Amino acid sequence: MPANLPPKYLEILERMKSARRIFALTGAGVSTLSGIPDFRTDKSGIWERFDQTKIFNIDTFRKSPHLFYEFAREWIYGLKDIKPAAAHILLAEMEKRGMLRGIATQNIDGLHQESGSKKVYELHGHFRSSHCIECGKKYSREDTIQRLKNAPYPACDCKGAIKPDVIFYGEELPGGALEASFQEAMMCDLLIVMGTSLVVYPAALIPRHAISSGAKMILFNKTWTPFDDAADLIIRDDLRDVCGALLDAIKKE
Ligand SMILES: [Zn+2]
Repeated sequence: MPANLPPKYLEILERMKSARRIFALTGAGVSTLSGIPDFRTDKSGIWERFDQTKIFNIDTFRKSPHLFYEFAREWIYGLKDIKPAAAHILLAEMEKRGMLRGIATQNIDGLHQESGSKKVYELHGHFRSSHCIECGKKYSREDTIQRLKNAPYPACDCKGAIKPDVIFYGEELPGGALEASFQEAMMCDLLIVMGTSLVVYPAALIPRHAISSGAKMILFNKTWTPFDDAADLIIRDDLRDVCGALLDAIKKE
């Protein structure tokens, strides 16, 4: 029994250990610890310069792909030293130890995989690959970066714009990832929600499916969410603190 754990954290640990099947849903809050600003809560810095709802809009992209790449050249493809943080590391360790079935994430940064998580449902896609919006030809991240050099946007051999496999506003979510997440939510008996205010649908349907199937829910979020009343445990603490403490405790088990 990890004696140095505060009672509240001890309760989380006990609930995790006694659960039969745990699934997790993560949002921007787990990646702000890695230095990726959350455009919903952080209106300063990068999101003052770029209107996320505009640059990640598929209609805008089709007309003016360079607008997206003015942002992405520096803030996606130019980023270095972005490393997984406490929440990513904790969830990866839990999966490794057989405590976690998988993660549904609203994030597009790939940090869960980078920290070693294997089963990750990326509801909003990712930047690891791209495709031509005209002919559909696939490109790797490296190819995309290569074609972006000295060009306003990366273009396909057919001259069409190359777009990362991230879901833009106005595009359908990848049905497979969403459907699989709903299934996991309905089968789990404990849902861990981290760093999301649960206001974006259809991701917010995941806790709904879990709860209506009888699962318990631990909610880690700094601010109020529409699901607070349905949560069995609400943790407002900084994710760095609580995830760090839980990781230490799990490793000592
Ligand atoms: Zn093409």
